[in-house]
Amino acid sequence: MRTPVQGEANRMQKTFRKALMEKKAEILVALGINFRELADPEHRLAAEDNVAHEEFVRLRVNRVLQGQLRQIEDSLERLKMGEYGICESCGAAIPSKRLLAIPWARFCVDCQEQTFSFSVAEAARMEKEY
Ligand SMILES: [Zn+2]
Repeated sequence: MRTPVQGEANRMQKTFRKALMEKKAEILVALGINFRELADPEHRLAAEDNVAHEEFVRLRVNRVLQGQLRQIEDSLERLKMGEYGICESCGAAIPSKRLLAIPWARFCVDCQEQTFSFSVAEAARMEKEY
């Protein structure tokens, strides 16, 4: 999307890319630590009773982190394609203030709220299954 403030837009894109790359590095470090501890036999023996629960929690955390990682990679891809910052649901531009807070945001606030209330219901349902 071409606008008269293209220079400003380019500058913002650099800011978003940097924020995304930093977050990505952070997640990769967190995932690395989790995987190492899961694979460590001494760690397992030391806390035999807790292992099952701990692994469950860690795998769950890893799942969340991997989901976030995918979102970040998606966002980096969209930056490259020039589609970054456009709500995937309604096509509206996501305000840069929101993108600065959540660089991997895929939806505008309105759409996110709809999705979010769905996720909360979904999460509550899943909790019951365990
Ligand atoms: Zn939207």
